[in-house]
Amino acid sequence: MIRVGLGKDLHRMVQGRPFVLGGVTIPFGKGELGHSDGDVLAHAVTDALLGAAGLGDIGELYPPGDPKWKDAGSLELLKGAWEKVQASGWGIVNLDCIVTCEEPKILPHRDAIRAALAWALGIAADRVFIKGKTNEGLGELGNGGAVEALAVCLVERE
Ligand code: MG
Repeated sequence: MIRVGLGKDLHRMVQGRPFVLGGVTIPFGKGELGHSDGDVLAHAVTDALLGAAGLGDIGELYPPGDPKWKDAGSLELLKGAWEKVQASGWGIVNLDCIVTCEEPKILPHRDAIRAALAWALGIAADRVFIKGKTNEGLGELGNGGAVEALAVCLVERE
């Protein structure tokens, strides 16, 4: 049996925060506002995996008001969710993602992000792909006020 999962997240971008994508800190003047490290991509991937397995969503697993998750590393949260998904019998076929932000360019960091996500999931990096897009200068994404991530995954019963 195979199933598909879809995840989406958006965070405000503010001065004085690290810009973390898929566990990789990208040198940039600002970063995601969030209760955890704000890793918008890790959050979207977590929701895609949980959704594929029908195991709820990231907010249920890691309630945002819970002090336990304050400044938590989102790759660790992703690993925890993935362990739950695996424990219910699912393996991953592939993961494909889009990060939308006006700046910085994602391409120079793409392979590092692919490797970090693949490591967290215990799979080969060629099963993970990331694309960076701009928002053509439109809206909050286009003026640098926010960053968005979309993730789709295919899982199979092993
Ligand atoms: Mg989030």
